[in-house]
Amino acid sequence: MKKLFKVAFFYSFIVITTISVAYGIFFINQIRCIMVSYSGTGLREVDNGIYVDPEMDDIEVQLLLLNIEQSRDRVSLFFDSITASPTIIAGPSKDIMKKYGANLRSPGMNHITFLGTYIVLGPGGLNRDVISHELVHSELVSRVGWVNRETKIPTWFDEGLALMLDYRYANSDAMWMMLTSNGKNAPELPELANMHDFMRYTEKSPFFSYVTSMREVSRWWNIVGLEGFNEFSELLKQGYSFEEAYQMTESRYTFPDVGK
Ligand SMILES: [Zn+2]
Repeated sequence: MKKLFKVAFFYSFIVITTISVAYGIFFINQIRCIMVSYSGTGLREVDNGIYVDPEMDDIEVQLLLLNIEQSRDRVSLFFDSITASPTIIAGPSKDIMKKYGANLRSPGMNHITFLGTYIVLGPGGLNRDVISHELVHSELVSRVGWVNRETKIPTWFDEGLALMLDYRYANSDAMWMMLTSNGKNAPELPELANMHDFMRYTEKSPFFSYVTSMREVSRWWNIVGLEGFNEFSELLKQGYSFEEAYQMTESRYTFPDVGK
């Protein structure tokens, strides 16, 4: 029995070590972000949960803090309140993105982990549109829960919702119509369900991925509104699939007498 215990312990140790090393290799930037909350790792904490490159001067920091505050107002106005409190790591050089972000050419990104959400902003991401975009991602996970976000929310919904408060594509209708031949060549939503395929279309043009997603989420939101979104979040928590919750909410608000 003692020997069996020893063997089990040995193999458990090997498995846990292998998983930890693999996680460390693939998610080293994510681990760095998590560590920031504990040790700062050389970054300067300029406000609660906001860390910046120590090279940033006071004016740059003040401007960043103002942009974060105004982005929070934008998100809070849309969702009626803000429930997420992500850690933000920002800097005006590409090193920040390289060290804490991802190998994407994106100006900002989110690490959504079960320990919390970490927003990384590079040189192109210190403005209100990118900050609002990233804050919406963290707000969504805060509203629906980490497990639901990871297992049920398709990428097009997450990105489409974020783009509603990111005004870089606010006047995108004409260009979208042109690029997709009035929608005929736009990808179907299931083709934008996971990040890998979503990025494949983004490489072709963000109009195919981001704008197609935003058009669908805006259409849905215009029907259901914030009240419907809150019900949708509740339905996910009750165990309904994304498709069920999305359609149930839409039918309820399209035919308001049904089920009320
Ligand atoms: Zn995004």
